[in-house]
Amino acid sequence: MPKKYIATPSRTKELLNKYGFAFKKSLGQNFLIDVNVLENIIHQAGITKETGAIEIGPGMGALTEQLAIHADRVVAFEIDQRLLPILEETLADYDNVEVILEDILKADVEEVIKTHFGEDQEIHVVANLPYYITTPILMKLVRDRLPVTSLTVMIQKEVAERMAAVPNTKSYGSLSIAVQYYTEARVVLNVPKQVFMPQPNVDSSVLKLVMRKEPPVQVDNEDFFFELIQASFAQRRKTLRNNLNRFLQEKLEKHQVEILLEEASIDGGRRGETLTIEEFAALANKVYRELSKS
Ligand code: SAM
Repeated sequence: MPKKYIATPSRTKELLNKYGFAFKKSLGQNFLIDVNVLENIIHQAGITKETGAIEIGPGMGALTEQLAIHADRVVAFEIDQRLLPILEETLADYDNVEVILEDILKADVEEVIKTHFGEDQEIHVVANLPYYITTPILMKLVRDRLPVTSLTVMIQKEVAERMAAVPNTKSYGSLSIAVQYYTEARVVLNVPKQVFMPQPNVDSSVLKLVMRKEPPVQVDNEDFFFELIQASFAQRRKTLRNNLNRFLQEKLEKHQVEILLEEASIDGGRRGETLTIEEFAALANKVYRELSKS
């Protein structure tokens, strides 16, 4: 008899009833009930029998099971203790999975990688993320420059579009640049609400982030670079000049800001959303050097 995967409506309901499990909305619990979507995610992630996988939020194990089948080893971080006995049952047939009961935001993922995967093994993060903390999770993982090749994650469609957005689009903003400084970002799949139980209120997409070995631009001070970008989008409808003057008002005169814009070959009448990451880097370096003089 073919195996009945966890990611089916009937098996999911069966498990919910058996364990009397009630979804916690506050933990972003929307479980996947469609194996085709899961196989597609795993394919997009580049998972093979040689690769390791890190999952965030295994839930009842729908994605974990598919990762166990397709990857060499799987380590999954789950915050909700109530899911442990369920996972013990659903993953009993797989000896290449370890579930760690821990908040991913507090976990030392680098240490876990060192202790659970082979040296030089290619590792991918694959997850159907809890939507309430998508951005903090992804920013933590990419900023920590973990030794992983890519992150392929199901997230809210609108957030996926913002993370992968290019200049001169409505979705482009400081989040796009923050993500693209560390990774190459691309939306690989749009997913209908029907593949989740319970169905979320928002649309979902799968985003693939491939870690960069080096940032695409050289910046003198990363914190200042990101601060300047945030400030440039503070009031989206206003010009870059306007936003910058507000950001730098206690530090530089308006005419100094004008000179720096000119030196960076950027028209202050443009809006932040038209600037490429290279232009932001050139501008941030000019301003940072000027501020460092005083
Ligand atoms: N992977 C399962 C699936 O696709 O069916 C469940 C995905 S569900 C969208 C998100 C999961 O993340 C839930 O199991 C939830 O308990 C877990 N979770 C929420 N916050 C977490 C955190 N801070 N650290 C680790 N897991 C978390």
